[in-house]
Amino acid sequence: MGQKQYKQLGCLDVDPRAGCAFQVRAETEEEVMRLGAEHGKLAHKMDSMPPDMLSKVKAAIKTVTVDV
Ligand SMILES: [Zn+2]
Repeated sequence: MGQKQYKQLGCLDVDPRAGCAFQVRAETEEEVMRLGAEHGKLAHKMDSMPPDMLSKVKAAIKTVTVDV
């Protein structure tokens, strides 16, 4: 019983036009960024994230509270 905070990132939050419903949740921002970059590579053919995309992604990360 309790609550836990997670960092959450959704593709739609970064770019609604992409129409991608991918969502990832992890305990740290670093992990979310890592998983997000991996997804970008696999699903959106982004081999590396340009700095403006990186800050967009960072801005889209939300903190969510989950009951555990
Ligand atoms: Zn996506």
